[in-house]
Amino acid sequence: MTSAPDRATARQDDDDEALEVVRLDELRGLGVRARRAFPAGDVIHRFAGVVSETLCQHSLQVDASRHISGTRYIGYLSHGCDPNARLDMTGFTLAALRDIKAGDIVTVDYAATEDRLHRQFACRCAAPACRGWITGRDERPNAEGEQWLATRDVR
Ligand SMILES: [Zn+2]
Repeated sequence: MTSAPDRATARQDDDDEALEVVRLDELRGLGVRARRAFPAGDVIHRFAGVVSETLCQHSLQVDASRHISGTRYIGYLSHGCDPNARLDMTGFTLAALRDIKAGDIVTVDYAATEDRLHRQFACRCAAPACRGWITGRDERPNAEGEQWLATRDVR
């Protein structure tokens, strides 16, 4: 098999206790918190779900035309422009880019996996390199984004 299977079958029970979905706040909604520390480079989580051609709010892109949904945690990861983790959409793993402490919110760069986002949004990640308006890697800011960026440049 040369591409990802239609149904990922990675074992999830080996690291079920390592993460938890939490409510961050009204604005940001749900996020994923590490329940223990992970050194940089460590695999945090192996995920599984249903792969289809449907793009939805909590899906992640697997390849040019397919998305994985129904995952236990990774569909709830927050975006960060300078993230502490990255997704491998071939091996279906989430790995730490930096040392992550217990209690840290795990973040990934949405543009690293997504050609198009379900919904573009203004980022509040506070990273020095924050891009401000977040889009997929293959799309331009929408009308709301153009307006948001124009307003920001004036300040
Ligand atoms: Zn940002």
